[in-house]
Amino acid sequence: MAYTLPELPYGYDALEPYIDARTMEIHHTKHHQAYITKVNDALQGTVLEGIDILQVIQRIDELPAEKQTAVRNNGGGHANHSLFWQIMGPKAGGVPAGELAEAINDAFGGFEAFKTEFSNAAATRFGSGWAWLCRHADGEVKICSTPNQDNPLMSGVGCEGIPILGLDVWEHAYYLNYQNRRPDYINAFFSVINWEKVAENYAG
Ligand code: MN
Repeated sequence: MAYTLPELPYGYDALEPYIDARTMEIHHTKHHQAYITKVNDALQGTVLEGIDILQVIQRIDELPAEKQTAVRNNGGGHANHSLFWQIMGPKAGGVPAGELAEAINDAFGGFEAFKTEFSNAAATRFGSGWAWLCRHADGEVKICSTPNQDNPLMSGVGCEGIPILGLDVWEHAYYLNYQNRRPDYINAFFSVINWEKVAENYAG
């Protein structure tokens, strides 16, 4: 089965005023759809066709060399955006609770310190990419960032663990509303994080 665009769990205007409806609609229907179309094309007839996208991006080296870049970029794009839509929501923001809150406190010393470090990772990613919060095998959480559409599940990207929260810092994610003000977009993102969903991802 070829991948199809997952529906957003909320309307395009649901994240206003933090993320505007026009950006959300273009981001979802044009950018995410383009990654899906291209990864479907690249996987056609290969051993990884029809497999869960999170498995695919961990097994890119099983593909013919000439397919690997397309699957890395577009399969990564599909996986990354699928997570991104889920970890945002209307009437969200605030702070995490439960085991996730404890893990964040253990790793960073508190929520504000976590926010500062995550924001810094997102702000200092040169060019296009993502900032991540990942769960490691022992339950520890760590922040990292990747270029392009790389995902921490890919090997050799300098990021490890299972991504439970991701922030898209490609210009297409914020330019209509924020232009060059990436730090303002990063700050606004904290008002739309769906911590319940992130906690679900943490619990696995
Ligand atoms: Mn994007």
